Amino acid sequence: MSEILLAEPRGFCAGVDRAIEIVERALAKFGRPIYVRHEIVHNTYVVNDLKDKGAIFIEELDEVPAGATLVFSAHGVSQAVQQEAERRGFRIFDATCPLVTKVHVEVAKLFKEGYEFLMIGHKGHPEVEGTMGQLSEGIHLVEDIDDVAKVQPKQTDLLAVVTQTTLSVDDTAGILAAVKARFPKVREPKQQDICYATQNRQDAVKLLSPQVDIVIVVGSPTSSNSNRLREVAHRLGTEAYMVDNASELKAEWFDGKQRVGLTAGASAPDILVQQVIERLRELGAISVRKLDGITETIKFPLPKGLKIQGDGAI
Ligand code: SF4
Repeated sequence: MSEILLAEPRGFCAGVDRAIEIVERALAKFGRPIYVRHEIVHNTYVVNDLKDKGAIFIEELDEVPAGATLVFSAHGVSQAVQQEAERRGFRIFDATCPLVTKVHVEVAKLFKEGYEFLMIGHKGHPEVEGTMGQLSEGIHLVEDIDDVAKVQPKQTDLLAVVTQTTLSVDDTAGILAAVKARFPKVREPKQQDICYATQNRQDAVKLLSPQVDIVIVVGSPTSSNSNRLREVAHRLGTEAYMVDNASELKAEWFDGKQRVGLTAGASAPDILVQQVIERLRELGAISVRKLDGITETIKFPLPKGLKIQGDGAI
């Protein structure tokens, strides 16, 4: 192995940065424990680090004691969860990524205008549960082209499509084409729901893959966007593996390989990428080169009520 090529951009997106900062600020301001509904972002290292600092991760609201501070994860929650948390009187901070909230707002607005929805996404993913749970009826999940053929909306005059933010750009285009073929009047989002971070990281892997013999994606098994990065490389014919951390790298993967491509999902911290680079150096890598790519400057504001000492005058 001679060279490591780093995809650009890779790793944390603005929504993940914001979600982690919300939990850290809540801990600094209100003290431990802070309850977090679902993994704040789908990354083992991030979750364990926040556990060490005093966060308690729960799935059901009845695990949270009265009067506690509760943070919703970056994936968003259904109306039922939101209302139940309010009814129970928790101090709530919403770390839902603003790009997921944008989809929620669009669903609510179009529902009032009489629309029914097809949602392209993965069953059981918390973001899909949160977005579908904005409505009590009239939103149908389609996971693939077969589902598009089977779905039975009550009417087709006012039908809109929304998607999970972290899908494969190419798969979604195929499913969307099938939706449009079956329901020609369907309303598409003005700007696609797949977020800038997902799009940019997939584009970077498309640039990286043909230049390397193997691609390593740093990401946890539950991370949708990380899984999609491995798939993008694999579909381009490049051997590709996803690892949660450096200890999962297998020496035999690199036998006879010259160039290793490295990227990280939107929820994977840079420290894990650095540890993977160190391990690859132990396995024989000599140099590291960053590919050219888009520089992301997007930053989302924090929710109110999380100013802490050191932020300056309010
Ligand atoms: Fe937001 Fe996209 Fe990051 Fe998800 S991957 S948190 S939608 S910016």
